[in-house]
Amino acid sequence: MNITAWYQRFRSWQRDPRQWPHESMGEHCCANCEHTYIGNYCPVCGQSAKEGRVDWLSLHRIVMMVWGLDSRSMLYSLWQLIWRPGYMVGEYINGRRQVSFPPVKMLFIMALFYAIVMQLSGMNQEVVVEQTQEQNTVLDAFLDWLRDHPAWSMLSLTMSMVLPTWALFRFSPFHHRHTLPEGITIQLFMSTLLLLILFVNKFASGWLSFLAVVYYYVCYRQLFGYRFWGTLWRTLTCFFTSFLMIIIVYVMIALIFDVEGIGNEAGMVVIAYVAVFVVLMLFLAAILVVGAMIGRRTYRKRSNQSLTK
Ligand SMILES: [Zn+2]
Repeated sequence: MNITAWYQRFRSWQRDPRQWPHESMGEHCCANCEHTYIGNYCPVCGQSAKEGRVDWLSLHRIVMMVWGLDSRSMLYSLWQLIWRPGYMVGEYINGRRQVSFPPVKMLFIMALFYAIVMQLSGMNQEVVVEQTQEQNTVLDAFLDWLRDHPAWSMLSLTMSMVLPTWALFRFSPFHHRHTLPEGITIQLFMSTLLLLILFVNKFASGWLSFLAVVYYYVCYRQLFGYRFWGTLWRTLTCFFTSFLMIIIVYVMIALIFDVEGIGNEAGMVVIAYVAVFVVLMLFLAAILVVGAMIGRRTYRKRSNQSLTK
């Protein structure tokens, strides 16, 4: 098979990888309630048609139930997340739940796996060394805590993307006007993906960090359907705004916890902090509003064009 044909097959798999297994071609007698039916699950008691006498496959399922991994394969979901992130997340928020492993569970199992491997391989020792340095602010303590809890730090990073994504991709061709709960779900999947990248990156001694940016771009392109430049500037603006929001949180934490130690000049410092805070908030709001307005204009233009066609 030549490269083009292979790539086209890959693309069509990316768009829709599903081939539903039809166990249901013949009649089944339910092993649980002895009802006879056609289908994958018993309509009376809900037991799967696959269940029967215990064989190697059902033993595997019984063992994996400990992790809640029995029905939907987490590895398959991760595989999809790696090769078709945007399409998969898009299907999930559109309601195709059965094929995907639940995102929060996936994130926490990944975090557990990450922690165990780091512990066993002794890779978290450098962190221990850094921790012995003196902590002088609440913020330092917070950053240390984030470093020790990669799942939470990925979550807080990606959650800062919810609002910018919501504003900037509001009028996108696909998933038009996505809601905030959908936005949060998107970022839950991104957290898992970033954690996976962080994990691989540990073994590649840091030179894979660019993958985080690439994956955001690829995911947003597949998910929202803008073309190259449309996706690129929006994704980069999302990063910038998310960075800005982190600075705002930094200023807030500093304002609340760290001002007391300064003494006489505390009043001036508070005013300066508040001023910085207000300016940053206005700047942030401006970016989001302008971004959304541009999206709206291109959306109108696009729908006018499709009307005249
Ligand atoms: Zn039954």
